[in-house]
Amino acid sequence: MDVAIVGGGPVGLFIAASLSKMGYSVTVFEEHSDIGNPSHCSGLFSEHILEIVGEKERRGILKATRRAEIMAPDGSLLRIKSSSSRVYVVNRVEFDRSLARDAINNGAEIHLKERVKAVSRRFIKTSWGEYRSKIIVGAEGINSVVRREILVSPPKIIGAAQVVANYNYGEEDLVRIYVGNEVAPGFFAWVIPLGSDMAKIGLASYGNSWLFLKKLLRQLKAHPLSISAGGIPVSTVSRTYGEGMLIVGDAAGQVKATSGGGVYPSLKSAQCAVKTIERALESGDYSRTAMKKYEDCWRREIGKELSNAQYIHRQYRKIKDVDFNNIVRELNRPDMLKIINEYGDIDYPSKVVWKLLKKNPRLIKYTRIIARK
Ligand SMILES: Cc1cc2nc3c(=O)[nH]c(=O)nc-3n(C[C@H](O)[C@H](O)[C@H](O)COP(=O)(O)OP(=O)(O)OC[C@H]3O[C@@H](n4cnc5c(N)ncnc54)[C@H](O)[C@@H]3O)c2cc1C
Repeated sequence: MDVAIVGGGPVGLFIAASLSKMGYSVTVFEEHSDIGNPSHCSGLFSEHILEIVGEKERRGILKATRRAEIMAPDGSLLRIKSSSSRVYVVNRVEFDRSLARDAINNGAEIHLKERVKAVSRRFIKTSWGEYRSKIIVGAEGINSVVRREILVSPPKIIGAAQVVANYNYGEEDLVRIYVGNEVAPGFFAWVIPLGSDMAKIGLASYGNSWLFLKKLLRQLKAHPLSISAGGIPVSTVSRTYGEGMLIVGDAAGQVKATSGGGVYPSLKSAQCAVKTIERALESGDYSRTAMKKYEDCWRREIGKELSNAQYIHRQYRKIKDVDFNNIVRELNRPDMLKIINEYGDIDYPSKVVWKLLKKNPRLIKYTRIIARK
Protein backbone atom coordinates (compact mmCIF):
# COMPACT_ATOMS: atom_id res chain seq x y z
CA MET A 1 0.00 0.00 0.00
CA ASP A 2 1.04 3.63 -0.44
CA VAL A 3 -0.03 4.95 2.93
CA ALA A 4 -0.88 3.21 6.21
CA ILE A 5 -2.66 5.37 8.75
CA VAL A 6 -2.68 4.36 12.39
CA GLY A 7 -5.88 5.67 14.02
CA GLY A 8 -9.35 6.32 12.64
CA GLY A 9 -10.03 9.63 14.42
CA PRO A 10 -10.77 12.87 12.54
CA VAL A 11 -7.13 13.36 11.56
CA GLY A 12 -6.48 9.87 10.20
CA LEU A 13 -9.79 9.79 8.35
CA PHE A 14 -9.33 13.26 6.84
CA ILE A 15 -5.86 12.31 5.54
CA ALA A 16 -7.23 8.99 4.24
CA ALA A 17 -10.10 10.73 2.42
CA SER A 18 -7.79 13.33 0.86
CA LEU A 19 -5.10 10.90 -0.35
CA SER A 20 -7.49 8.24 -1.61
CA LYS A 21 -9.29 10.94 -3.62
CA MET A 22 -5.95 11.52 -5.40
CA GLY A 23 -5.84 7.83 -6.31
CA TYR A 24 -3.35 6.51 -3.74
CA SER A 25 -3.95 3.23 -1.95
CA VAL A 26 -4.62 4.01 1.70
CA THR A 27 -5.48 1.81 4.68
CA VAL A 28 -6.62 3.10 8.08
CA PHE A 29 -6.13 0.84 11.11
CA GLU A 30 -8.56 1.55 13.95
CA GLU A 31 -8.45 -0.43 17.16
CA HIS A 32 -12.14 0.04 18.01
CA SER A 33 -15.02 -1.74 16.31
CA ASP A 34 -16.87 1.48 15.62
CA ILE A 35 -15.73 4.83 14.15
CA GLY A 36 -16.23 7.74 16.57
CA ASN A 37 -16.76 5.60 19.66
CA PRO A 38 -15.85 5.94 22.42
CA SER A 39 -16.07 9.74 22.11
CA HIS A 40 -14.38 12.00 24.67
CA CYS A 41 -14.84 15.24 22.78
CA SER A 42 -17.26 18.07 23.64
CA GLY A 43 -17.82 18.75 19.95
CA LEU A 44 -17.46 22.52 20.13
CA PHE A 45 -16.24 23.39 16.66
CA SER A 46 -15.39 26.66 14.93
CA GLU A 47 -16.49 27.66 11.44
CA HIS A 48 -12.87 27.10 10.30
CA ILE A 49 -13.15 23.33 10.92
CA LEU A 50 -16.25 23.06 8.76
CA GLU A 51 -14.58 25.11 6.03
CA ILE A 52 -11.68 22.61 5.95
CA VAL A 53 -13.85 19.49 5.72
CA GLY A 54 -16.57 21.11 3.56
CA GLU A 55 -20.16 19.91 3.05
CA LYS A 56 -21.20 21.38 6.39
CA GLU A 57 -24.74 20.04 6.23
CA ARG A 58 -23.62 16.42 6.72
CA ARG A 59 -21.05 16.84 9.47
CA GLY A 60 -23.27 16.20 12.49
CA ILE A 61 -23.99 19.82 13.44
CA LEU A 62 -26.55 19.95 16.26
CA LYS A 63 -26.74 23.71 16.61
CA ALA A 64 -24.86 26.98 16.22
CA THR A 65 -24.31 29.56 18.91
CA ARG A 66 -22.67 32.95 19.26
CA ARG A 67 -23.15 33.29 23.01
CA ALA A 68 -20.99 32.23 25.93
CA GLU A 69 -20.53 33.28 29.52
CA ILE A 70 -17.57 32.95 31.81
CA MET A 71 -18.19 32.57 35.53
CA ALA A 72 -15.47 33.88 37.86
CA PRO A 73 -14.80 32.26 41.25
CA ASP A 74 -16.88 34.96 43.01
CA GLY A 75 -19.87 34.15 40.76
CA SER A 76 -19.63 37.25 38.58
CA LEU A 77 -20.33 36.67 34.91
CA LEU A 78 -18.75 37.84 31.68
CA ARG A 79 -21.30 37.55 28.89
CA ILE A 80 -20.00 37.35 25.35
CA LYS A 81 -21.95 37.51 22.11
CA SER A 82 -19.65 37.19 19.14
CA SER A 83 -20.51 39.22 16.08
CA SER A 84 -17.66 37.81 14.00
CA SER A 85 -17.61 34.07 14.55
CA ARG A 86 -20.06 31.34 15.33
CA VAL A 87 -19.37 28.18 17.27
CA TYR A 88 -21.06 24.90 16.41
CA VAL A 89 -22.11 22.14 18.76
CA VAL A 90 -21.36 19.00 16.77
CA ASN A 91 -22.13 15.35 17.31
CA ARG A 92 -18.54 14.18 17.22
CA VAL A 93 -19.46 10.54 16.47
CA GLU A 94 -21.42 11.69 13.40
CA PHE A 95 -18.58 14.02 12.40
CA ASP A 96 -16.00 11.22 12.46
CA ARG A 97 -18.35 8.86 10.62
CA SER A 98 -18.92 11.43 7.86
CA LEU A 99 -15.15 11.56 7.32
CA ALA A 100 -15.01 7.75 7.30
CA ARG A 101 -17.71 7.69 4.60
CA ASP A 102 -15.64 10.17 2.53
CA ALA A 103 -12.57 7.95 2.88
CA ILE A 104 -14.43 4.77 1.89
CA ASN A 105 -16.24 6.45 -1.02
CA ASN A 106 -12.86 7.64 -2.30
CA GLY A 107 -11.47 4.09 -2.19
CA ALA A 108 -9.64 3.90 1.15
CA GLU A 109 -9.84 0.76 3.30
CA ILE A 110 -10.68 1.02 6.98
CA HIS A 111 -9.71 -1.98 9.10
CA LEU A 112 -11.77 -1.84 12.29
CA LYS A 113 -10.85 -3.72 15.46
CA GLU A 114 -7.26 -3.92 14.27
CA ARG A 115 -4.77 -2.50 16.72
CA VAL A 116 -1.34 -1.47 15.48
CA LYS A 117 1.20 -2.95 17.88
CA ALA A 118 4.45 -1.81 16.32
CA VAL A 119 5.81 0.00 13.27
CA SER A 120 9.20 0.37 11.70
CA ARG A 121 10.29 1.80 8.37
CA ARG A 122 7.76 0.51 5.76
CA PHE A 123 6.45 -2.16 8.15
CA ILE A 124 3.31 -2.40 10.31
CA LYS A 125 2.49 -5.16 12.79
CA THR A 126 -1.12 -5.31 13.94
CA SER A 127 -3.28 -7.58 16.07
CA TRP A 128 -4.29 -9.34 12.82
CA GLY A 129 -1.21 -9.43 10.64
CA GLU A 130 1.71 -7.67 9.05
CA TYR A 131 1.73 -5.12 6.23
CA ARG A 132 4.14 -3.06 4.18
CA SER A 133 3.57 0.57 3.29
CA LYS A 134 5.62 3.30 1.62
CA ILE A 135 4.54 5.86 4.21
CA ILE A 136 3.16 5.45 7.74
CA VAL A 137 1.10 8.16 9.44
CA GLY A 138 0.63 8.19 13.22
CA ALA A 139 -2.81 9.68 13.87
CA GLU A 140 -3.57 7.49 16.87
CA GLY A 141 -3.89 10.16 19.55
CA ILE A 142 -1.95 10.67 22.74
CA ASN A 143 -0.56 7.11 23.04
CA SER A 144 1.16 7.08 19.67
CA VAL A 145 3.03 3.99 18.47
CA VAL A 146 4.55 5.86 15.52
CA ARG A 147 5.83 8.62 17.82
CA ARG A 148 7.71 5.99 19.84
CA GLU A 149 9.32 4.65 16.67
CA ILE A 150 10.60 8.07 15.59
CA LEU A 151 12.08 8.49 19.09
CA VAL A 152 10.19 11.57 20.19
CA SER A 153 8.98 12.22 23.77
CA PRO A 154 5.21 12.55 24.26
CA PRO A 155 3.54 15.95 24.68
CA LYS A 156 2.56 17.14 28.14
CA ILE A 157 -0.96 15.93 28.89
CA ILE A 158 -3.60 17.16 31.35
CA GLY A 159 -6.57 15.07 32.43
CA ALA A 160 -10.13 15.75 31.28
CA ALA A 161 -13.46 14.23 32.23
CA GLN A 162 -16.91 14.80 30.83
CA VAL A 163 -20.46 13.62 31.36
CA VAL A 164 -23.71 13.89 29.50
CA ALA A 165 -26.18 14.88 32.22
CA ASN A 166 -29.76 15.79 32.93
CA TYR A 167 -29.28 19.48 33.38
CA ASN A 168 -30.93 22.69 32.31
CA TYR A 169 -29.93 26.23 33.16
CA GLY A 170 -32.59 27.75 31.02
CA GLU A 171 -30.60 29.01 28.04
CA GLU A 172 -30.18 26.45 25.33
CA ASP A 173 -27.81 28.39 23.11
CA LEU A 174 -25.42 29.58 25.78
CA VAL A 175 -22.12 27.84 26.53
CA ARG A 176 -20.93 28.42 30.08
CA ILE A 177 -17.30 28.32 31.22
CA TYR A 178 -16.22 28.17 34.88
CA VAL A 179 -12.75 29.37 35.84
CA GLY A 180 -10.96 29.23 39.17
CA ASN A 181 -8.60 27.10 41.18
CA GLU A 182 -11.34 25.52 43.26
CA VAL A 183 -13.26 24.47 40.13
CA ALA A 184 -10.58 23.42 37.63
CA PRO A 185 -6.98 24.30 38.55
CA GLY A 186 -4.95 25.29 35.50
CA PHE A 187 -7.80 24.98 33.01
CA PHE A 188 -11.61 25.35 33.15
CA ALA A 189 -14.96 23.60 33.27
CA TRP A 190 -17.70 23.84 30.63
CA VAL A 191 -21.43 23.31 30.22
CA ILE A 192 -22.69 22.83 26.67
CA PRO A 193 -26.48 22.52 26.43
CA LEU A 194 -27.68 19.71 24.16
CA GLY A 195 -31.38 20.49 24.51
CA SER A 196 -33.83 21.74 27.08
CA ASP A 197 -32.89 19.18 29.76
CA MET A 198 -29.52 17.73 28.70
CA ALA A 199 -25.99 19.09 28.65
CA LYS A 200 -22.38 18.05 28.26
CA ILE A 201 -20.59 19.03 31.44
CA GLY A 202 -16.85 18.62 31.44
CA LEU A 203 -13.66 19.78 32.94
CA ALA A 204 -9.93 19.66 32.34
CA SER A 205 -7.46 20.41 35.10
CA TYR A 206 -4.22 19.64 36.81
CA GLY A 207 -4.78 17.12 39.60
CA ASN A 208 -7.64 14.62 39.46
CA SER A 209 -10.10 16.13 36.96
CA TRP A 210 -12.75 13.50 37.71
CA LEU A 211 -12.85 14.51 41.41
CA PHE A 212 -13.19 18.18 40.42
CA LEU A 213 -15.96 17.30 37.98
CA LYS A 214 -17.86 15.29 40.61
CA LYS A 215 -17.75 18.34 42.88
CA LEU A 216 -19.08 20.61 40.13
CA LEU A 217 -21.87 18.15 39.29
CA ARG A 218 -22.94 18.16 42.93
CA GLN A 219 -23.00 21.97 42.97
CA LEU A 220 -25.03 22.11 39.76
CA LYS A 221 -27.31 19.27 40.92
CA ALA A 222 -26.72 17.62 37.55
CA HIS A 223 -27.26 13.87 37.15
CA PRO A 224 -24.76 12.11 34.85
CA LEU A 225 -26.10 9.67 32.28
CA SER A 226 -22.74 8.71 30.76
CA ILE A 227 -19.13 9.40 31.64
CA SER A 228 -15.97 9.69 29.56
CA ALA A 229 -12.39 10.64 30.30
CA GLY A 230 -9.41 11.54 28.17
CA GLY A 231 -6.20 13.50 28.01
CA ILE A 232 -5.54 16.87 26.38
CA PRO A 233 -2.03 17.69 25.11
CA VAL A 234 -0.85 21.13 26.22
CA SER A 235 2.48 21.10 24.40
CA THR A 236 3.64 20.13 20.95
CA VAL A 237 6.34 17.50 20.46
CA SER A 238 9.87 18.40 19.39
CA ARG A 239 9.75 16.62 16.00
CA THR A 240 6.83 15.23 13.97
CA TYR A 241 8.57 13.22 11.22
CA GLY A 242 11.00 10.41 10.62
CA GLU A 243 12.06 8.56 7.47
CA GLY A 244 8.79 7.63 5.72
CA MET A 245 6.78 8.54 8.84
CA LEU A 246 4.71 11.46 10.13
CA ILE A 247 2.73 12.07 13.30
CA VAL A 248 -0.32 14.34 13.19
CA GLY A 249 -3.02 15.57 15.61
CA ASP A 250 -3.02 14.67 19.31
CA ALA A 251 -0.09 12.32 18.63
CA ALA A 252 1.96 15.43 17.87
CA GLY A 253 0.34 17.66 20.52
CA GLN A 254 -1.30 19.89 17.88
CA VAL A 255 -3.92 21.20 20.31
CA LYS A 256 -4.63 24.73 21.54
CA ALA A 257 -3.41 24.78 25.12
CA THR A 258 -5.80 27.66 25.89
CA SER A 259 -9.05 25.84 25.06
CA GLY A 260 -8.14 22.16 24.56
CA GLY A 261 -9.52 22.40 21.01
CA GLY A 262 -7.52 20.01 18.87
CA VAL A 263 -9.60 19.44 15.79
CA TYR A 264 -8.83 22.71 14.00
CA PRO A 265 -5.02 22.77 14.46
CA SER A 266 -4.89 19.04 13.75
CA LEU A 267 -6.80 19.39 10.49
CA LYS A 268 -4.64 22.35 9.43
CA SER A 269 -1.61 20.14 10.10
CA ALA A 270 -3.28 17.23 8.30
CA GLN A 271 -3.52 19.42 5.17
CA CYS A 272 0.26 19.89 5.39
CA ALA A 273 0.71 16.13 5.83
CA VAL A 274 -1.36 15.45 2.69
CA LYS A 275 0.76 17.82 0.59
CA THR A 276 4.03 16.34 1.87
CA ILE A 277 2.89 12.74 1.33
CA GLU A 278 1.67 13.51 -2.19
CA ARG A 279 5.04 15.03 -3.06
CA ALA A 280 6.93 12.09 -1.55
CA LEU A 281 4.83 9.49 -3.39
CA GLU A 282 5.28 11.33 -6.68
CA SER A 283 9.06 11.61 -6.30
CA GLY A 284 9.68 8.33 -4.44
CA ASP A 285 11.68 10.29 -1.88
CA TYR A 286 10.71 9.23 1.66
CA SER A 287 13.83 10.56 3.35
CA ARG A 288 13.76 12.60 6.55
CA THR A 289 14.52 15.71 4.49
CA ALA A 290 11.44 15.09 2.34
CA MET A 291 9.25 14.40 5.41
CA LYS A 292 10.52 17.51 7.20
CA LYS A 293 8.52 19.61 4.71
CA TYR A 294 5.43 18.57 6.68
CA GLU A 295 6.83 20.00 9.88
CA ASP A 296 7.93 23.24 8.18
CA CYS A 297 4.43 23.59 6.75
CA TRP A 298 2.39 23.08 9.95
CA ARG A 299 4.74 25.22 12.03
CA ARG A 300 4.31 28.00 9.45
CA GLU A 301 0.51 27.61 9.33
CA ILE A 302 -0.37 27.09 12.98
CA GLY A 303 2.87 26.82 14.99
CA LYS A 304 2.91 30.43 16.20
CA GLU A 305 -0.68 30.29 17.43
CA LEU A 306 0.01 26.99 19.22
CA SER A 307 3.10 28.36 20.95
CA ASN A 308 1.25 31.58 21.92
CA ALA A 309 -1.50 29.38 23.39
CA GLN A 310 1.10 27.37 25.33
CA TYR A 311 2.55 30.59 26.72
CA ILE A 312 -0.91 31.85 27.78
CA HIS A 313 -1.63 28.43 29.33
CA ARG A 314 1.57 28.56 31.40
CA GLN A 315 0.71 32.07 32.67
CA TYR A 316 -2.96 31.17 33.21
CA ARG A 317 -1.90 28.37 35.57
CA LYS A 318 -0.49 30.96 37.95
CA ILE A 319 -3.62 33.14 38.23
CA LYS A 320 -5.11 33.26 41.73
CA ASP A 321 -8.86 33.32 42.24
CA VAL A 322 -8.80 36.94 43.37
CA ASP A 323 -7.06 37.86 40.08
CA PHE A 324 -9.63 35.89 38.07
CA ASN A 325 -12.35 38.01 39.74
CA ASN A 326 -10.47 41.22 38.96
CA ILE A 327 -9.78 40.23 35.35
CA VAL A 328 -13.46 39.40 34.77
CA ARG A 329 -14.38 42.79 36.29
CA GLU A 330 -11.91 44.59 34.00
CA LEU A 331 -13.25 42.77 30.95
CA ASN A 332 -16.85 43.56 31.87
CA ARG A 333 -16.56 47.09 30.43
CA PRO A 334 -18.40 48.06 27.26
CA ASP A 335 -15.17 48.83 25.35
CA MET A 336 -13.63 45.48 26.37
CA LEU A 337 -16.78 43.52 25.50
CA LYS A 338 -16.88 45.25 22.12
CA ILE A 339 -13.35 43.98 21.34
CA ILE A 340 -14.13 40.45 22.57
CA ASN A 341 -17.37 40.31 20.59
CA GLU A 342 -15.72 41.67 17.46
CA TYR A 343 -12.39 39.84 17.44
CA GLY A 344 -12.95 36.77 19.62
CA ASP A 345 -12.07 33.62 17.70
CA ILE A 346 -11.66 30.31 19.53
CA ASP A 347 -9.03 29.19 17.04
CA TYR A 348 -6.92 32.36 17.35
CA PRO A 349 -7.38 33.51 20.97
CA SER A 350 -4.05 35.33 21.11
CA LYS A 351 -5.35 37.96 18.63
CA VAL A 352 -8.02 39.19 21.03
CA VAL A 353 -5.72 38.94 24.08
CA TRP A 354 -3.20 41.39 22.58
CA LYS A 355 -5.99 43.78 21.53
CA LEU A 356 -7.46 43.76 25.06
CA LEU A 357 -4.08 44.41 26.67
CA LYS A 358 -3.54 47.34 24.34
CA LYS A 359 -6.94 48.85 25.05
CA ASN A 360 -6.91 48.33 28.82
CA PRO A 361 -3.38 48.68 30.20
CA ARG A 362 -4.75 47.90 33.70
CA LEU A 363 -4.87 44.29 32.52
CA ILE A 364 -1.11 44.39 31.99
CA LYS A 365 -0.84 44.68 35.78
CA TYR A 366 -2.22 41.13 36.07
CA THR A 367 0.07 39.76 33.38
CA ARG A 368 3.01 41.33 35.26
CA ILE A 369 1.88 39.84 38.57
CA ILE A 370 1.54 36.48 36.83
CA ALA A 371 4.88 36.73 35.01
CA ARG A 372 6.66 37.43 38.34
CA LYS A 373 5.26 34.29 40.00
C1 LIG B 1 -12.93 15.87 27.17
C2 LIG B 1 -12.41 16.40 25.86
C3 LIG B 1 -13.14 17.36 25.17
C4 LIG B 1 -12.67 17.87 23.95
N1 LIG B 1 -13.43 18.80 23.31
C5 LIG B 1 -13.00 19.32 22.14
C6 LIG B 1 -13.79 20.27 21.44
O1 LIG B 1 -14.88 20.64 21.87
N2 LIG B 1 -13.32 20.76 20.26
C7 LIG B 1 -12.10 20.36 19.74
O2 LIG B 1 -11.70 20.85 18.68
N3 LIG B 1 -11.35 19.44 20.38
C8 LIG B 1 -11.77 18.90 21.56
N4 LIG B 1 -11.02 17.96 22.20
C9 LIG B 1 -9.76 17.52 21.57
C10 LIG B 1 -10.05 16.57 20.40
O3 LIG B 1 -10.94 15.56 20.84
C11 LIG B 1 -8.75 15.96 19.88
O4 LIG B 1 -7.80 16.98 19.68
C12 LIG B 1 -9.00 15.21 18.56
O5 LIG B 1 -9.87 14.15 18.77
C13 LIG B 1 -7.68 14.71 17.99
O6 LIG B 1 -7.94 13.88 16.89
P1 LIG B 1 -6.91 12.72 16.48
O7 LIG B 1 -7.49 12.11 15.22
O8 LIG B 1 -5.54 13.24 16.49
O9 LIG B 1 -6.97 11.66 17.67
P2 LIG B 1 -8.18 10.83 18.26
O10 LIG B 1 -9.47 11.54 18.07
O11 LIG B 1 -7.75 10.46 19.64
O12 LIG B 1 -8.23 9.52 17.36
C14 LIG B 1 -7.24 8.54 17.46
C15 LIG B 1 -7.83 7.22 17.02
O13 LIG B 1 -6.78 6.26 16.98
C16 LIG B 1 -7.23 5.02 17.55
N5 LIG B 1 -6.03 4.33 18.04
C17 LIG B 1 -5.25 4.65 19.10
N6 LIG B 1 -4.20 3.82 19.19
C18 LIG B 1 -4.32 2.91 18.16
C19 LIG B 1 -3.55 1.82 17.71
N7 LIG B 1 -2.42 1.46 18.33
N8 LIG B 1 -3.97 1.12 16.64
C20 LIG B 1 -5.13 1.46 15.98
N9 LIG B 1 -5.90 2.52 16.37
C21 LIG B 1 -5.50 3.24 17.44
C22 LIG B 1 -8.20 5.46 18.63
O14 LIG B 1 -9.12 4.43 18.92
C23 LIG B 1 -8.88 6.67 17.99
O15 LIG B 1 -10.02 6.31 17.26
C24 LIG B 1 -11.45 17.41 23.41
C25 LIG B 1 -10.71 16.43 24.10
C26 LIG B 1 -11.18 15.92 25.30
C27 LIG B 1 -10.37 14.88 26.02
